[in-house]
Amino acid sequence: MNILNKFNFFLIVLFLSSILNIHSQEQKYPGSFTIEKNERPPNIIFMIGDGMGLSQITAGTISNKNTSSLEEMQYIGLQKTHSFNQLVTDSAASGTAMACGEKTYNGVVGINSKNKQLESILEYCKSKNFTTALIATSSIVHATPASFYANVNSRRQYEDIALQLRYHSVDYFIGGGRKHFNRREDKRDLIAEMETEGYKIVNNIDNYDGYKNKKLGFFTYADEPPPINTGRKPSLEVLVNSTLDKLKSDDKPFFLMVEASQIDWGGHANDLPYIISEFKDFNKAISNALDFAKLNGNTLIVVTADHETGGLAIKKGNLKKNSVIGDFTTIGHSGTMVPVFSYGSKSEIFTGIYENTAIFNKLKIAVNK
Ligand code: MG
Ligand code: ZN
Repeated sequence: MNILNKFNFFLIVLFLSSILNIHSQEQKYPGSFTIEKNERPPNIIFMIGDGMGLSQITAGTISNKNTSSLEEMQYIGLQKTHSFNQLVTDSAASGTAMACGEKTYNGVVGINSKNKQLESILEYCKSKNFTTALIATSSIVHATPASFYANVNSRRQYEDIALQLRYHSVDYFIGGGRKHFNRREDKRDLIAEMETEGYKIVNNIDNYDGYKNKKLGFFTYADEPPPINTGRKPSLEVLVNSTLDKLKSDDKPFFLMVEASQIDWGGHANDLPYIISEFKDFNKAISNALDFAKLNGNTLIVVTADHETGGLAIKKGNLKKNSVIGDFTTIGHSGTMVPVFSYGSKSEIFTGIYENTAIFNKLKIAVNK
């Protein structure tokens, strides 16, 4: 080969290799993209109706033109709610069982029967680089939400629980109970402390929507929020929607716990209209979660209760008038099993009858799908 031929040969090789290179890139890109998409863990929306047994669901459904968003769920299971040593659980022991996977004594949050502090599913998700969020219609330091971030021997240690949230890394939270953060016996202002460390803490939904902080808290009320039928605002639907909008804009999977706290309080008051109004508030929030899962895919929704409250039975009613009359057998909780509804990614693993602690293990399986 003379010099010219060598140069031409070099050009041809260069040309061919660039074509091959482009071609191999084209082939590789969609392949690796698909694998990446499948390997991403699902978003998890875990929704707890405190005290929401089958009779509460039935009463709420009849009152809601005989339908509810739960009818769109794909799988149904039943969970056994008893605590470590009591047939009838409280919300601390059952919250701990679902959030942390171990039975404990009534009244205890995030600590097992051998006094060991437990890691919650929220914290496990955090370790897997999930964004995390908590929403409750009670105070944020109440037993159910506390089970996801606190470890205390008594659910009544509200100021200790608040302190643990202050040092936690939950990304978004909404609930009542501001006073446990800024009107404390130790005179500390935990809200100011959190704000110096990057949190923005707000007191209304416009500011919650408006601030783009990745660490954001919204105190809905200074104390426990009132019932929805005496004017609690915003609705759970609005709170869930706003939070899902934020979570969607993060390029990470998320774990969101939503609690309809006051279905339980209606049960303790043996007040059926109270239960029904709280169920309807919850029902709309579930509907929003379903819309999110349908639109975005790769999302698991689990809706359940921590126990039943009131020993409610549906005694009479009128389907045409959407009216229902119930009878209560207790002002406390009952020991009946409660349903578990699931939708979306890995939802099939929630069928069957199992202990409340299995919820934690099943959520973990979904995270590692
Ligand atoms: Mg609760
Ligand atoms: Zn209760």
